[in-house]
Amino acid sequence: MDHIDTLIVGAGVVGLSIAAKLSQHREVFVVEQAKHFGEHTSSRNSEVIHAGIYYPADSAKARHCVAGKALLYQHCKDYGVPVKMLGKVITAQNDAEIQTLEKLILQAEQNGVDDLHWLSQAELQQKAPQIKAKEGLFSPSTGIIDSHQFMLSLIGQLEQKQGHFVANTQFISATPVKNGFLVTLDCEGQTFSLSCSHLINAGGLFAQHNAAKIEGLSNPNIPPIHYCRGQYFSYQGAHPFKHLIYPVPEQHGLGIHATVDLAGQLRFGPDTQFIDSIDYATDSSALDKFYQAIQRYWPQVEKSKLQIDYAGIRPKLQTAGPQDFIIENQSVHNIAGLINLYGIESPGLTASLSIAQTVTEQLIAE
Ligand SMILES: Cc1cc2nc3c(=O)[nH]c(=O)nc-3n(C[C@H](O)[C@H](O)[C@H](O)COP(=O)(O)OP(=O)(O)OC[C@H]3O[C@@H](n4cnc5c(N)ncnc54)[C@H](O)[C@@H]3O)c2cc1C
Repeated sequence: MDHIDTLIVGAGVVGLSIAAKLSQHREVFVVEQAKHFGEHTSSRNSEVIHAGIYYPADSAKARHCVAGKALLYQHCKDYGVPVKMLGKVITAQNDAEIQTLEKLILQAEQNGVDDLHWLSQAELQQKAPQIKAKEGLFSPSTGIIDSHQFMLSLIGQLEQKQGHFVANTQFISATPVKNGFLVTLDCEGQTFSLSCSHLINAGGLFAQHNAAKIEGLSNPNIPPIHYCRGQYFSYQGAHPFKHLIYPVPEQHGLGIHATVDLAGQLRFGPDTQFIDSIDYATDSSALDKFYQAIQRYWPQVEKSKLQIDYAGIRPKLQTAGPQDFIIENQSVHNIAGLINLYGIESPGLTASLSIAQTVTEQLIAE
């Protein structure tokens, strides 16, 4: 039977970032059940590099977002990944929302993000023409990235070292044995086994399902998963925006915001809807809801130019309240060599290289 040092389940931004980093030290295989890398959440998001504003101080989200942002901008420079530090305007429409902006400034400072500043009405009109807001904040370090090119660069990086990416291969189950795991995989209908010393479950929306197939991990150890779909509408035609435009955040997401991609295409979303299974179907009847949400900050939006686009699904750990990333190692589940990553929703793309650094340090220290 073949033996490898580390098996990573899942070739999204998180699994690939860990593989790229860890392959500098260890032999790593990343298996992906789909035909291509990044077919799930990593290609169904806003492609925004977040500044690190919103998350509770000392949370894993805050730490990994701020550290990951710096690592990601540097990585894009080093590997020629298309990126733009566009900056974003966060808008407030009334006194209650202005209070939210005041809290956001304080939260950002606690998280080590000290570059937010208030915009005067003149600056607001210059930075965000046609935008209606009582007050606005500007975050200069927010940016956009080509996530597909980012993932390609990670595969290039890992293949230059001791890493291998294998598509069409599904993790089925694992049994802890002395010094590692016996793993069963399915490669295009053929089942085979291998042994590995370390196992990393970076399965995104499937992480809980995978964990349930690891002997010794029982339900109390595995957090619940709730699928929260967010869909986007693209805007056909010209628009006046050079920066990203956000409302104040809402309970499950950042509100229906406007992002411009690297090709200049304007897009709005994501909304939030809890669903029972992984289903990327979009619902064009959400048009009225989107139109009303956008009109609050961009009254000149033309409804006829909004077209349903795509949807992504957030791997929520609960249906209400703040939640954090979970990076779970032996100290929690008592199985040596196993790391499970749960609830890696936004800002997981921004945070991915920092998460990879932490996971690598934990494995190297073992
Ligand atoms: C609507 C939306 C908008 C977002 N916007 C942003 C944003 O603007 N900025 C930001 O920083 N973050 C954003 N995020 C979050 C970010 O996209 C995710 O945190 C990140 O992509 C998660 O990556 P991942 O590798 O954990 O998961 P995934 O990309 O889902 O990858 C997991 C992979 O594991 C594979 N897999 C699972 N189980 C198995 C198995 N048994 N065998 C083999 N393969 C398996 C899956 O097929 C999948 O490819 C957004 C998320 C959503 C849903």
